Amino acid sequence: MTTGVEGSTRWPAITKDVAAFPVQPNLLDYGAARRDFSWDQARQELAGLPGGRGLNIAYEAVDRHVAEGHGGKEALRFVKADGGTRSLSYVDLAGQTSRFAAVLKNLGVGRGERVFSLLGRSPELYVAVLGTFRNGSVFCPLFSAFGPEPVRQRLHLGAGRVLVTTKALYRKKVAPVRDSLPELRYVLLVDAGGNPEPGTLDLAELLAQAPQQGHAPPGHDIADTQPEDMALLHFTSGTTGAPKGAIHVHDAVAAHYATGRFALDLHPDDVYWCTADPGWVTGTSYGIIAPLVHGVTAIVDEEELDADRWYRILAQQHVTVWYTAPTALRMLMKAGAERAAGHDLSALRFIASVGEPLNPEAVVWGQDVLGLPVHDNWWQTETGGIMIANYPAMDIRPGSMGRPLPGIEAALVARDADGKPVVKDGQAVLVTEPDAMGELALRPGWPSMFRGYLNEEERYRRCFAGGWYLTGDLAKRDGDGYFWFVGRGDDVIKSSGHLIGPFEVESCLMEHPAVAEAGVIGVPDPVAGEVVKAFVELKPGHQPTEDLQLEIIGFARKRLGAAVAPRLLDFTSTLPKTRSGKILRRLLKSRELGLPEGDTSTLESPAGPAVALQDRP
Ligand code: ATP
Ligand code: MG
Repeated sequence: MTTGVEGSTRWPAITKDVAAFPVQPNLLDYGAARRDFSWDQARQELAGLPGGRGLNIAYEAVDRHVAEGHGGKEALRFVKADGGTRSLSYVDLAGQTSRFAAVLKNLGVGRGERVFSLLGRSPELYVAVLGTFRNGSVFCPLFSAFGPEPVRQRLHLGAGRVLVTTKALYRKKVAPVRDSLPELRYVLLVDAGGNPEPGTLDLAELLAQAPQQGHAPPGHDIADTQPEDMALLHFTSGTTGAPKGAIHVHDAVAAHYATGRFALDLHPDDVYWCTADPGWVTGTSYGIIAPLVHGVTAIVDEEELDADRWYRILAQQHVTVWYTAPTALRMLMKAGAERAAGHDLSALRFIASVGEPLNPEAVVWGQDVLGLPVHDNWWQTETGGIMIANYPAMDIRPGSMGRPLPGIEAALVARDADGKPVVKDGQAVLVTEPDAMGELALRPGWPSMFRGYLNEEERYRRCFAGGWYLTGDLAKRDGDGYFWFVGRGDDVIKSSGHLIGPFEVESCLMEHPAVAEAGVIGVPDPVAGEVVKAFVELKPGHQPTEDLQLEIIGFARKRLGAAVAPRLLDFTSTLPKTRSGKILRRLLKSRELGLPEGDTSTLESPAGPAVALQDRP
């Protein structure tokens, strides 16, 4: 059997010298932190609503800082298309979110009712999220790039009562389906300019009518939500099928706080940039809640991914902590190291990545080009926060997701021949030998754990077996407790008795100098059961020739062995991806096999056409 661990031995660990850190990392002694930490301790470090009224994320993220005398500090800095910025301080946020909450209240929108957004990363979005928490209502952010059907689907599933959006997005994506959304009472337009569309309201006008805070003490008007009250509804990325609506509660903020400290190493002086859109969970948990709870200044880029722009933001905004994703890093790698040259990245002290397996190549590229290695971490919409990470002061094993956070118990559950978890006497059977594969599982009980899939009780129940939450991902753990991602349960390839994780093969392909990105699937084969097929996107300047095709297959064979290396390889202009930047292998597969495509509501880039070989007769 092949393993991600074996694959990674080509990459030496990146050893950390703690004494050389510019800022003392929050987690220096991993063993001690795991031993001494408890979630109750994290909860105690939160402020709680004044007068012991309960717990509300908005108070922890905003008003607490005002109450503690830091209201003037810059909370959010938005970088506009032209590179200019506009900022909101913590006290600005308190005032604006309070007014937004008052608007909801005036409209009769109550506790637990769902407020959706369909907005780009503008200040209005951030105010709406926190203002909704303040009112005790539940927020559900949607990607502004979703088409009318995904928008309708989610608004309907989540019984959205309010939608905050723009005039143009409303016209294009909501107006055509409005009749089929009877639960949707109010559509608030952020840019109505005094002239709202029929059936909508002018948010600016409503805000102007809302009462001003005056000299009331911070947080006095925040709904007295309790830790188990629902705060967020987050749809998953839809990588494996139809997106699920994961329910999160106010208690989650204890996890955002602790993980922001341990895994992202946030300190109050940081200028922190999370590149994720709040349309998926990273953009909310770590683009809004964690940084604000830590009182840092968070950068929000209002524009889309672009290599030059991103280097400029890192340099000009003096970003110290950067949280991004493999797809973005691969894009920067593809653009070429020379693009980074000339940008002063000396403020940067920590880089982390999430969302997909991070190829070892990208970890090392960070070290070479940005001057810092990239720290992979792993979690899901369901877990609400980071579960496994390469910590700042920990030696990085390129290709590994790292080790479980303090307060998190992770294990590998054995699977039977049908891929079902093995349970004996009510307890899951765990895989304990080093480097053996099992389904990654977590012991339930951390604060940001999802409390259910909305309206899908049975699907939620199926996520648990023998005392564990099953993640659907396959992984291995080495002798030192580092976890290694193998693949999603559904993506793993069975070939001649070998179980092959697509990640290992993709990472190997990326080590070839001509390869920018790769997606790997299994295709049926009468002899082997399945054989590995790779779809490869080339870096600029490389031509898709038959020679190159053979060379890349040979390259992979030398490193992975004939049993694991791709037997088939096609060049493609783009790989199909979700809006959160994940390669949609199931789509590569259904297209390859001529099967129905399934749910494609989160598809961002449709697969580009296959690129014909240039020297084929
Ligand atoms: P769906 O559940 O709808 O199929 P999804 O699983 O892609 O979509 P998310 O919750 O956004 O939705 O993503 C979580 C998944 O992303 C994880 O289960 C894992 O498969 C993958 N993932 C996230 N981070 C990492 C990482 N560091 N290494 C490997 N895989 C990762
Ligand atoms: Mg998932």
